[in-house]
Amino acid sequence: MAGPGWGPPRLDGFILTERLGSGTYATVYKAYAKKDTREVVAIKCVAKKSLNKASVENLLTEIEILKGIRHPHIVQLKDFQWDSDNIYLIMEFCAGGDLSRFIHTRRILPEKVARVFMQQLASALQFLHERNISHLDLKPQNILLSSLEKPHLKLADFGFAQHMSPWDEKHVLRGSPLYMAPEMVCQRQYDARVDLWSVGVILYEALFGQPPFASRSFLELEEKIRSNRVIELPLRPPLSRDCRDLLQRLLERDPSRRISFQDFFAHPWVDLEHMPSRESLARAVSRPTGMWWNEGMCGDVLSAPFGGKNTALVVEAVKKDQEGDPAAALSLYCKALDFFVPALHYEVDAQRKEAIKAKVGQYMSRAEELKAVISSSNEALLRQGTSARDLLREMARDKPRLLAALEVASAAMAKEEEASGEQDALDLYQQSLGELLLLLAGEPPGRRRELLHTEVQNLMARAEYLKEQVKMRESRWEAETLDKEGLSESVRSSCTLQ
Ligand code: ADP
Ligand code: MG
Repeated sequence: MAGPGWGPPRLDGFILTERLGSGTYATVYKAYAKKDTREVVAIKCVAKKSLNKASVENLLTEIEILKGIRHPHIVQLKDFQWDSDNIYLIMEFCAGGDLSRFIHTRRILPEKVARVFMQQLASALQFLHERNISHLDLKPQNILLSSLEKPHLKLADFGFAQHMSPWDEKHVLRGSPLYMAPEMVCQRQYDARVDLWSVGVILYEALFGQPPFASRSFLELEEKIRSNRVIELPLRPPLSRDCRDLLQRLLERDPSRRISFQDFFAHPWVDLEHMPSRESLARAVSRPTGMWWNEGMCGDVLSAPFGGKNTALVVEAVKKDQEGDPAAALSLYCKALDFFVPALHYEVDAQRKEAIKAKVGQYMSRAEELKAVISSSNEALLRQGTSARDLLREMARDKPRLLAALEVASAAMAKEEEASGEQDALDLYQQSLGELLLLLAGEPPGRRRELLHTEVQNLMARAEYLKEQVKMRESRWEAETLDKEGLSESVRSSCTLQ
């Protein structure tokens, strides 16, 4: 029996030792395999009587499916057994404790660390989503860490909740309402989208130290869950715009207005495509064709024969560079760097890491040179553009909307000159371009249309260039702050700084 005071249960082939934790439905023990390897595992004992009407047999079929699942960010289910009272799940052991403890011993996590974890969680959820599996009980206690030295996040405790109603026979809520989507608590009717709400709560807690509905009493908690107020984000610590946007869209009470799974995976702050993974390097040296180079893409990959079906981003960049098209070359270098930097994070082999680092350095310096070239020709263009711009303004005197949009464009240019004004400048460019494009579409042929057309093109080029600059600075920053041990080290060091 796996009950308090009874000590660990007995199980064929394993020696159960300390209790690792217990959650809503089960108790988990650390254990050793008796046979040869003496492999360390975690064994989760689920009391059969805690299961609801769904038959135990159905559950066993489900477990069989989960056994087939392999993902770097999902706790692996190795095997299972059962007896008259319990079901025993034999799982990969995670030595780093759970995310709840990880957050609370550090009070809050820096945005950069939260982002790495969020990408890992998102990749696990994407994998499950593709297989039509919902978690339904996402919370920091169900997210484990592989180890504290190299903290990789591992999603645990999924696929189970579907067999258990969040309400027991006496209509008492099981689990923690702090992480449950409001529709789960209030309507008792819900679907996979509840997982996205929970992701929002977890992210909120990682960044601000406590979940959005943290309360002193149950009454207060209930009021917060039932209210229809928009979830407000604390102003401190300061967070990036993308991060705030994601939080706000995950923590949308109405599931039909909540961010969708697809938009979540593609959200710029999550950006699964650029997540450090074994595919990063392949993505850097090749253009996505749907066929990544897999396992074997190691030591010689940097000198691997480019071309064939895979048109390498860097090779194209070099080509454009030689053809004397610095803008196109810069853009391609930046795109390649977007993949190289995560590849650098992911690589563990010291020699290969050095090789990638050298390449990153080389491409960055060339990108810097190109930037200088483009910047000086931009200056020239800008001077040329001034008289045309004045003329356009003159011709827009009777068009207040046009005049206003041109004002916004001037404000964008002014912001661009300010230190750290880039993000604001980009927003202003976007705003003015949206308006100017509309006006251009309605503009009759003539001199004013020509001038407006040229101005729109100029502004687009400037905005594009600015975007690349911002990106490049971020890449450089990431590559520079990366030390020899890579991602895990950067996660650890930024955490211990707290
Ligand atoms: P429940 O279904 O009861 O919530 P969980 O699977 O969430 O059970 O496990 C409860 C706790 O046991 C977790 O919060 C964690 O602290 C610990 N635990 C669970 N699985 C493992 C594992 N594979 N390795 C290490 N600790 C684990
Ligand atoms: Mg749990």
